[in-house]
Amino acid sequence: MQTYRSDILVIGGGLAGIVSALELIDHGCDVLLLDRDEEAAFGGLARESFGGLFFVGSREQRRSGIADSPAQALADWLSFAEFGPDDQMPRLWAERYIERCIPDVYEFVRRHGISFLPVPLWVERGDSRRGNSVPRFHMVWGTGRELATRLIAALLGHANARRVIRAFRHRVDRLVSEDGRVCGCAGLREFDDVPFEARAEHVIVATGGINGDIQRVKTNWHRDWNRPPDVILNGSHRYADGRVHDAVVVAGGTLTHLDNMWNYASGVHHWRPRKPLHGLSLVPSRSALWLNYRGERIAPPLISGFDTRALVTAICAQERPYSWQLLNRRIALKELAVSGAEFNPSIREKSWIGVLRDTLLGNRWLVREMTENCEDVLIAGSLPELVGKMNARQGDTSVDLACLTDAVARYDAAVDAPDFAGDLQLRRISELRQYRGDRLRLSKSQKILDHGAMPLIAIREFIISRKSLGGIKTDLQCRVLGADDGVIPGLFAVGEAAGFGGGGMHGLRGLEGTFLGGCILTGRMAGRAITGRPNV
Ligand SMILES: Cc1cc2nc3c(=O)[nH]c(=O)nc-3n(C[C@H](O)[C@H](O)[C@H](O)COP(=O)(O)OP(=O)(O)OC[C@H]3O[C@@H](n4cnc5c(N)ncnc54)[C@H](O)[C@@H]3O)c2cc1C
Repeated sequence: MQTYRSDILVIGGGLAGIVSALELIDHGCDVLLLDRDEEAAFGGLARESFGGLFFVGSREQRRSGIADSPAQALADWLSFAEFGPDDQMPRLWAERYIERCIPDVYEFVRRHGISFLPVPLWVERGDSRRGNSVPRFHMVWGTGRELATRLIAALLGHANARRVIRAFRHRVDRLVSEDGRVCGCAGLREFDDVPFEARAEHVIVATGGINGDIQRVKTNWHRDWNRPPDVILNGSHRYADGRVHDAVVVAGGTLTHLDNMWNYASGVHHWRPRKPLHGLSLVPSRSALWLNYRGERIAPPLISGFDTRALVTAICAQERPYSWQLLNRRIALKELAVSGAEFNPSIREKSWIGVLRDTLLGNRWLVREMTENCEDVLIAGSLPELVGKMNARQGDTSVDLACLTDAVARYDAAVDAPDFAGDLQLRRISELRQYRGDRLRLSKSQKILDHGAMPLIAIREFIISRKSLGGIKTDLQCRVLGADDGVIPGLFAVGEAAGFGGGGMHGLRGLEGTFLGGCILTGRMAGRAITGRPNV
């Protein structure tokens, strides 16, 4: 048995764990940071992420002429969250995020050398419920990889760096309690199968969500989404399995809202998978036709950028809970994108020339990668040929050529019609194009059947699991709460493990960018609570 001892134990080396450790060594604490993964993966999901952060009142917003205020942001958040009467802690965390996102998140990352693209993006505008009433999604120049790399460098290069010991390939299985106080954890060193036990004054759980375990995702499937689809792709961390969530329950803590998840409607199979059912989440092309498994246009028409959860709900309501998007090469060049650092090399490598080239000439690299490698992407020179390929991929004859031809003809005719013949998708595209952050990445009046825009492309899209909006219930100091909201002494939870704050600060929906932001904020709050500093 290997034993360790430290002042503070941080379980999980993702963004939330790293920020907690930084905050603690800043104040002279000794920290032991354990992670199940390899050292090369230090940084967790943040290093794979897109790197969008939600801020209210940033310099980038002001320079872009965007008027925003905490009151307006809170109204948007509460509308999107639909908190229930018992969601006191999540609501307090929502308020805390909006109040503190500039001093504790924005200024913090800027101090660590992070900068943002000049124009914030306008995501999650809201559909049946109001979402972001103004653009607030700030893309890190260098993506989430830059965010993770900079903060790791800050930790390793810190004047107190010797105070943090990192141990990888350590799987934590349970927490250790003594005299009613959590004082450590135990598990297995997976590289040599030696059991270990670690002891500390305080334990911070930063192990991410549960959405990397597809069976667990299915077990906690939200009632709004019918039965879980047979195929759900995995867009989360391979170790986000809730093992330490369960250990928290054994130690007396509470889990809340595990059925609140931020999944996406447009997952495709990764062609170089690093985990079972590894999926990539597309940013769905707005000018594509969104179809069901028969090739019928889903009604009312689906379009991304308004309410991600509503898209998931609509797909799960279909007879077969997956979909097709039909577009052409010109649309793909302009609009096709994949969320995350891996498939955004121009931003990741901070190449302005690359960004300019992708914007002006289209993202040829990505379109080639996907059309050549992804099993869910099909190309053809005509609709009959494409329908043949779609049916072959589905393994039946469900896609009906006549029906698809009719849907395309109606849509293409609406492109030229006055007021788009009332077509909701085309109206929304025109609404989106009013904002310059969207205009650059949106085709204008683009028909599907257009000889100059060929070939046709069909993309089969599955539900992809991503973020756990629920998790370990905490108070505003990130202390884990048990029965009757009593504090579990010695135990803290941060980041996605804690539903980004309080066990679910987003409620039902996220305004986006609040996930990375929530990891930073909770990590800082936990560090301050442990070192006894007020949350100012
Ligand atoms: C492709 C992609 C794009 C994204 N884009 C954005 C974005 O633009 N904006 C945004 O806000 N969010 C985004 N996110 C979400 C965001 O990246 C995550 O929510 C966030 O990074 C979670 O951080 P975390 O530290 O809480 O958990 P994680 O990053 O999951 O880290 C948890 C760590 O705990 C370790 N661990 C787990 N179990 C154990 C155990 N039993 N024992 C020991 N260690 C364990 C894991 O190995 C891991 O290193 C994106 C996510 C992905 C995948």
